[in-house]
Amino acid sequence: MSTGKINVTADNIFPIIKKFLYSDHEIFLRELVSNAVDASQKLKTLSRIGESKAELGDLTIKIKVDKEQKTLTISDRGIGMSPEEIDKYINQLAFSGAEEFVQKYEDKADGAAIIGHFGLGFYSSFMVADKVEIFSRSHNEEAKGSYWSCDGSPEFTLEESDQKTERGTDIVLHINEDSTEFLEESRISELLKKYCRFLPVPIQFGEKEITETEGEGDDKKETKKMVPEIINVTDPAWTKAPADLEGDDYKEFYRQLYPFTFEEPLFHIHLNVDYPFDLNGILFFPRIKPNMDLQRNKIQLYQNQVFVTDNLEGIVPDFLTLLHGVIDSKDIPLNVSRSYLQADGAVKKISGHITKKVADKLSSLFKKDRADFESKWNDIKVIIEYGMLSDDKFFEKSEKFALYQNVEDQYFTFEEYLEKIKANQTDKDGNLVVLYAAHKEGQHAYIKKAQNKDYDVLLMEGPLVSHLMQKLEGGEQKVKFARVDSDSIDKLIAKDEEQVSLLSEEQKEKLKPLIEAQVDKASYTVVMEALDSSEAPFTITVPEFMRRMKEMSATGGGGMMGMGDMPDMYNLIVNTNHPVISTILEESDEEKRNALISRGKNLALLAQNLLHGEALTNFVEQQFAELKA
Ligand code: ADP
Repeated sequence: MSTGKINVTADNIFPIIKKFLYSDHEIFLRELVSNAVDASQKLKTLSRIGESKAELGDLTIKIKVDKEQKTLTISDRGIGMSPEEIDKYINQLAFSGAEEFVQKYEDKADGAAIIGHFGLGFYSSFMVADKVEIFSRSHNEEAKGSYWSCDGSPEFTLEESDQKTERGTDIVLHINEDSTEFLEESRISELLKKYCRFLPVPIQFGEKEITETEGEGDDKKETKKMVPEIINVTDPAWTKAPADLEGDDYKEFYRQLYPFTFEEPLFHIHLNVDYPFDLNGILFFPRIKPNMDLQRNKIQLYQNQVFVTDNLEGIVPDFLTLLHGVIDSKDIPLNVSRSYLQADGAVKKISGHITKKVADKLSSLFKKDRADFESKWNDIKVIIEYGMLSDDKFFEKSEKFALYQNVEDQYFTFEEYLEKIKANQTDKDGNLVVLYAAHKEGQHAYIKKAQNKDYDVLLMEGPLVSHLMQKLEGGEQKVKFARVDSDSIDKLIAKDEEQVSLLSEEQKEKLKPLIEAQVDKASYTVVMEALDSSEAPFTITVPEFMRRMKEMSATGGGGMMGMGDMPDMYNLIVNTNHPVISTILEESDEEKRNALISRGKNLALLAQNLLHGEALTNFVEQQFAELKA
């Protein structure tokens, strides 16, 4: 037997471990199970290359809780450790790492993230245990069995021991008063499902009931029995080559990953790189529904099948955090803080690579089956539009697959669309004017007016479109977006010919105040315009610039602070060439004239879906009264 004092300069490492790791106690289990997995994998390797004569047998790692003894035990059948190896790997190595840890991070609250990085993985068990014991037997039959124990002071005990009769290691934690939660089966089960669900060696915890049937017909006998439960899938889809997987395998994996989601993903992207960095993973494009709880299923980050985090902010580009799936990279440091991760060169390269892969996949889906891609477009466009706005490289690539849908449900790339409208929708200044509507039903009257002129109308809806249009207008071509209700149709795409006004300036000046007296001046500006006599006498328009700035400010950005709170502003366009307007002007009876103006204005409001509440009730009652008369 040997006793000794662990060789660190700081007298007591344990208070520091406890202090720094306070918020993240649960990771001790991940660390210990990872060590057990490593030990099992090492044995497999040694056996394969002929360095170990041991029979591999069943390598299942077993985890047991003993409430009475207040212990939690992690047992593996891996390479095991002789007393000399425990001295070397647990006493010396771990603590030389610890020494560095203490010196570097004593003043930094972020120390929690450093565990493992300095070989402190095993010692994280002292966050939850008063005393830790190791019973081990090496795969090397000549080596002696070993026993190590430490009660949280720098003094340890290490001796030869035959208590462990089989190959492998038992780590026994005597759970401390503050950590009794780790004696609850449900808590351990929860943690194993979180961190260990895809580890490559079977992990057994607890039991589950199964029903066995024997015999047939009347002799059929059903017996229920308890069998040990394996909590992990050892060969998840992302560890395999894409060529070895079928569509259903990906769907099956999606269900393993998100057991509580019933929706199927739209398609997947298999990441499979080993040079210049290591990256494996499968990303899924989910169907994104409006008002869906977007953040429920997140991408999970693994390192060698050990769960690291599902907070990928800064690790993958923001717009891709809406995807689902798994990323696994040996090059992502397991136990460092988020800010360190974000600054890490490998992580940055990985992020760029993922963006590129996603763009390539979208291009290839588009090329392979355009009709299918179009049918999925509305489910994926939020992610793509978000990407186009936040990542210039992605924006460039998206030109090949980003789609624009018109009100007739046809889909175009932007280039195709500009080609389509070039002949008819170029204004006198040479701008290509893209007309769009936000609601097919709500803006029906305006869409129809545009269609009467043989103009095409795009459907641009969703939280990001105002930002997207701004970006597309900034491109090389002279392109302008105008919502169908943002001006009278003749002004929307101003061609050369000016309409002659039937009314003189004098007449216009007489008419304008009469109309202004009938509308709320704070919200409506009366504009006299000489339009075609077939156009409506009154039209409500919503000027493009103000509206778009307001929308952009409501969804963030746009550079116009506080615009979102401004009241809505409308133009009331009066078509001076319409016969009704002449009638109004000629009407000398004030009451009759005001009734005409009010009726015309209300009809214009109706066409824009702006007549509501009392005003609508009054208008309808008045119309019925006139029907009767
Ligand atoms: P790390 O795993 O980062 O190296 P740890 O403190 O967790 O740091 O473990 C230190 C070393 O102790 C390991 O590298 C390994 O050699 C040895 N070790 C820990 N747990 C086991 C185990 N269950 N079986 C065999 N060796 C182990």
